[in-house]
Amino acid sequence: TLSDRLADTFKNLRGKGRLSEADIDATAREIRIALLEADVALPVVKDFVAAVKQRAREEDVSGALNPAQQVIKIVHDELVTILGGETRRMRFAKQGPTVVMLAGLQGAGKTTLAAKMALWLKEQGRSPLLVACDLQRPNAVNQLQVNGERAGVKVFAPEPGNGVGDPVAVARASVEEAKRTLHDVVIVDTAGRLGVDAELMQQAADIRDAVSPDEVLFVVDAMIGQDAVGTAQAFLDGVGYDGVVLTKLDGDARGGAALSIRQVTGRPVMFASAGEKLSDFDVFHPDRMASRILDMGDVLTLIEQAEKTFDQEQALKAAEKLSGRGGEFTLDDFLEQMQQVRKLGSMSKILGMLPGMGQMREQLENFDEREIDRIQAIIRSMTPAERANPKMIDGSRRARIAKGSGRAVSDVNSLVDRFFEARKMMMQMARGGGMPGMPGMPG
Ligand code: GDP
Ligand code: MG
Repeated sequence: TLSDRLADTFKNLRGKGRLSEADIDATAREIRIALLEADVALPVVKDFVAAVKQRAREEDVSGALNPAQQVIKIVHDELVTILGGETRRMRFAKQGPTVVMLAGLQGAGKTTLAAKMALWLKEQGRSPLLVACDLQRPNAVNQLQVNGERAGVKVFAPEPGNGVGDPVAVARASVEEAKRTLHDVVIVDTAGRLGVDAELMQQAADIRDAVSPDEVLFVVDAMIGQDAVGTAQAFLDGVGYDGVVLTKLDGDARGGAALSIRQVTGRPVMFASAGEKLSDFDVFHPDRMASRILDMGDVLTLIEQAEKTFDQEQALKAAEKLSGRGGEFTLDDFLEQMQQVRKLGSMSKILGMLPGMGQMREQLENFDEREIDRIQAIIRSMTPAERANPKMIDGSRRARIAKGSGRAVSDVNSLVDRFFEARKMMMQMARGGGMPGMPGMPG
C-alpha cells in the first residue's frame, strides 16, 4: 500500500542530514508507484511527483524536522493542494429555495446521500425538501421516502397530477411546492444507470434545465478506483456539475479517486459520505483526505504543532546535554520538557496522532491526563540538588518526597525509574536521530 511504501522510503531517509538529489529521486519513484497503486490517474501522478520533487529541492532543512518528516510534510502539503486546499462550502441562493441536484451512476449513493444531506441541513436550521426524481427503478421513490422519514424530512414524490413518470415535471413542480410550503433547500435525487448512458445524461440535463440548480453535485463511489475519472468526465460533459461528493469512504478505498477527479475535472470535492447511517456525512476536508491517502494518522498535525510549540533553544540545550556537552540530563530538564510536550495538546491526543498506534488504542483510552500533574507534584517536592542528581534519591529521600507531594512512595519510585528509562531512551534517540520535538514524553 501507499502508506507502507512511503514508510519504507522514509525509513531509508532516517538519520540523513539533508536530502540529496539521489534521495529525492528514490523517494519520487516510490511515491509514483504508490500513487498508481492507490488508483490515482497517471497524468495526475506525473504532475504530483514533479511538484514534490521541485519542493524537496527548494526547501531548506527546517530545524525541527528530520529529512523523513520533511518529505512527509511536502507530500502531505502537495496532496492538500491537489485536493483543493480549503473546503469548498455549499452555496445558498440569495432568494427563494436553494436547489441542489444530485447526479451519478446507479448505486453511487445518491439516494442515501440526499437523506444525509437533508438531515445535515436540518441540523443547521434549514428546512429541506427531498425530491424523488428517480422514476426508473421501481423501488426508488419508496427508498427515498423511507430515508426521508428517518431524517424527519418531507419528501416530494410524484403523484397523479404532478407528472407521473416524468422526472422533469416532478422536479419543476417540487420547486413550486418548496416556495409554497416555505422549504428553503430543495434536494433533487435523480436516476442513474449502471454505466454511462446517453439517455440518462439527457434526462439529467433536462432536469437541470428545468430547475436551474444552485449546485449540481456529482456523486461517486470512492471504491470504483480508476473508473472514477472516466465517469466523472462523462458527467461533466453530459450534465456538468459544480462539485463532487465521494461516498463509501468507510470502505477501504485509499482516496485515489478523490485526487484524480479533482485534478482532471477541476471540480472540488465538497462532501464525503462514509457509512450507512444518516449521520455518516460531512463536508470534505482536503487535509484529512491527504492524511488518509498517506495513512499516517494526523502525524503531520503533530509535527506542525511540535514545530510551533517546542522552543528551539530548549531543544538545543537538551540536545547538548544529551550529547554530553552541556552536563547531564536532569529531572528539571525532564519536567521542563514535559511541560513543553503538554503544550502540544492533551497527551492522549498526541499519542492518538502518532501512526501505528492502532493496536495501542485501549491503552490510549485508559491514559490518565492527571498523570502529568502527579509527576509534576513529585518533582516539585524534590530539592534542587536531587533534581540535578537523581542518583542521590535514596530511600529516606523518597519517603520525604512522597510525603511532601501527597503521593505514595511507590509513585516516587516509579517516577524515578521512568526518568532513568527516559534518559536512556533519549540518549539512544539523540544518537539515532529520533523525533526532536518529543523528548521527555512519559508513558
Ligand atoms: P443511488 O443508486 O445512487 O441512489 O445509491 P443508493 O443511495 O441507493 O446507495 C446504493 C447502496 O450503497 C445502498 O445499499 C446504500 O446503503 C449504500 N451506500 C450509500 N452510501 C454509502 C456509504 O457512504 N457507505 C456505505 N458503506 N454504503 C453506502
Ligand atoms: Mg437512488
